[in-house]
Amino acid sequence: ALSGRRALITGGASGIGAACARTFTAAGAHVTVCDLNGDAAQELAQEIGGDVWVADLADTAALEELSLDADILVNNAGIQHVSPVQEFDPQRWRLMHRLMVESPFLLIRAALPGMYERGFGRVINLSSAHGLRASPYKSAYVSAKHALEGLSKVTALEGAQYGVTSNCINPAYVRTPLVETQIADQARFHGISEDEVVEKIMLTESAVKRLVETEEVASLALWMASDASGMVTGTSFAIDGGWTAA
Ligand code: NAD
Repeated sequence: ALSGRRALITGGASGIGAACARTFTAAGAHVTVCDLNGDAAQELAQEIGGDVWVADLADTAALEELSLDADILVNNAGIQHVSPVQEFDPQRWRLMHRLMVESPFLLIRAALPGMYERGFGRVINLSSAHGLRASPYKSAYVSAKHALEGLSKVTALEGAQYGVTSNCINPAYVRTPLVETQIADQARFHGISEDEVVEKIMLTESAVKRLVETEEVASLALWMASDASGMVTGTSFAIDGGWTAA
């Protein structure tokens, strides 16, 4: 479905990004794994026969002169930090916004001219259920993901006449290293089992009582990246077991 396509996946060395890298490669794309973690990116690129771009995407000044040759751009790199608003470290808040809003803007900006020239492009933004809903203590994350939703919609409107689509994917909790660590920490903190953490803390909002698997997110991303999704743009796809239906 993706033969001849070049895909750039940020945060591609782990979790959802790595699943997308494997799935897109299996579908025939040439994948560039962009990540801060050079070793992990290198290892995955070797496995899939792709390229590596080691970069700190929070260093947004370095991205201003960039030009990208990609048919598919997956804005996936992201981090979480939990703290009440009045205690939230402003430096960390800005870091999260640079990584999760500014850098997607700069990468889209760098990729669009080539996409417009070729008359095809797919921008896939890893938002979150928190791009559509709020939770306490996640002011940086929730506001960054809401901003990404807006950026994605504007990109969709501008790109439409050039065959470029832009959409968001909005998962609930996905089984990734990030979430596995949170589960272990919470289990220790509350003195309950890891299963109980998942059921009683993470899945209170989800009608389907299990975590999302990275391959499930990648399969949605694959369809979004394909020619078949050309009429789908400026929208957001919840993959959240019913969380945002309630
Ligand atoms: P992850 O932690 O498994 O992987 C993120 C990758 O991003 C890592 O390889 C990391 O090295 C890289 N990265 C971090 N900071 C970077 C930087 N400054 N520059 C370049 N790369 C950097 O994460 P994940 O759970 O797969 O999440 C991927 C995306 O999906 C994120 O945007 C996240 O907000 C979103 N998301 C995740 C979940 C979930 O439950 N895991 C749910 C909803 C949305």
